[in-house]
Amino acid sequence: MKRDSKPGFGTLAIHAGQVPDPTTGAIMTPVYLTSTYVQEAPAKTKGYDYSRSHNPTRTALEQNLAALEGGRHGLAFASGMAAIHCVLNTLRAGDHVIAGNDLYGGTYRLLRTFYDKFGITTTFVDLTDLDQLHAAFRAETRLVMLETPTNPLLRCNDLAAIAKICRRRGVLTMADNTFATPYLQNPLALGCDIVAHSTTKYLGGHSDVVGGVLVCNDDDLLVKLRHFQNSCGGTPGPMDCFLVLRGTKTLHVRMERHCANALQVAQWLERHRKVARVFYPGLASHPNHKLAKQQMRAGGGMVSVELKASVAQAKKVCSSLRVFSLAESLGGVESLVDHPASMTHASIPAADRRRAGLGDGLIRLSVGIEDLDDQIRDLEQALQRLK
Ligand SMILES: *Cc1c(COP(=O)(O)O)cnc(C)c1O
Repeated sequence: MKRDSKPGFGTLAIHAGQVPDPTTGAIMTPVYLTSTYVQEAPAKTKGYDYSRSHNPTRTALEQNLAALEGGRHGLAFASGMAAIHCVLNTLRAGDHVIAGNDLYGGTYRLLRTFYDKFGITTTFVDLTDLDQLHAAFRAETRLVMLETPTNPLLRCNDLAAIAKICRRRGVLTMADNTFATPYLQNPLALGCDIVAHSTTKYLGGHSDVVGGVLVCNDDDLLVKLRHFQNSCGGTPGPMDCFLVLRGTKTLHVRMERHCANALQVAQWLERHRKVARVFYPGLASHPNHKLAKQQMRAGGGMVSVELKASVAQAKKVCSSLRVFSLAESLGGVESLVDHPASMTHASIPAADRRRAGLGDGLIRLSVGIEDLDDQIRDLEQALQRLK
């Protein structure tokens, strides 16, 4: 039993930010489908005046997610991209960003096609090599953006070391914690300034909602982020907030099964004669395994695999799986398979993909919480088709 009186993760997941509805006692947070709020006198409100600015269902979600990340402030968005866009809007023309070179294709696209033209430039580096990070700093560097584990190669970046380097230089760090989830890893506790999530993935957990969140501790930073969130309006509706809030209640239980299944799937794949390489932080063969064990509670639910097969054959394996559905996204209860080069990461030019080590034959699995035997049998029948 825990000795301190601080509530544990599962208790926070179910209760943080949520109180029984004061008018009816409803245990579930109501979906406040309202755009505006009646005021007693001009500007005399109960804390809510307009739903782009604040909505009680959203407040519950923001407090819940902040608690899970061990942070003070949460800000919910209509998508993960809207959340990341908000962080980038703390910058101004002339500023410089350093980003990991193995990150979500949409984040790459945002930096390359939208921020470049406003004079905010980005250097992409392999953040597992801290020498590359050191070399990339300029006088104008304001932000380091990273994911860990990365997408889709599942490399692990040293959050504490990177945060320390950035702090010394007065540069903000934003960690996209979508793959690990707050159950496995807490970047704020390791010194990062902002945590971002696509709540579409594990936090929602049921593939029925698109959303995003930012969590931070610093009050001044909160003011800047809130100002943008309200001014630009990429906020989620109350029904979306409700769905994510319902998802987080079971995050700890789902993650246990995701991690257990993924580890077994990774070990099984590693022994398969048609597999060239398995990328999974929970495997002892993973180059960042030691770091993963330090900063994560377990290896997560994502497994990438390079097959001993042509690109055409790898694509065929993707479409012959049955328990694993061929689809973008990840983190839901159901298993998914993705071919990054033609799907999630197609917006990254082929040359950049190759430089980052993302092969055209790579397959990415989001290992769901179905029965492990059925997942393995499915992989077996699909791989059997390879000559
Ligand atoms: C999906 C994803 C995003 C984008 O989130 P959306 O909710 O799709 O906008 C950002 N980062 C990572 C790591 C993701 O997997």
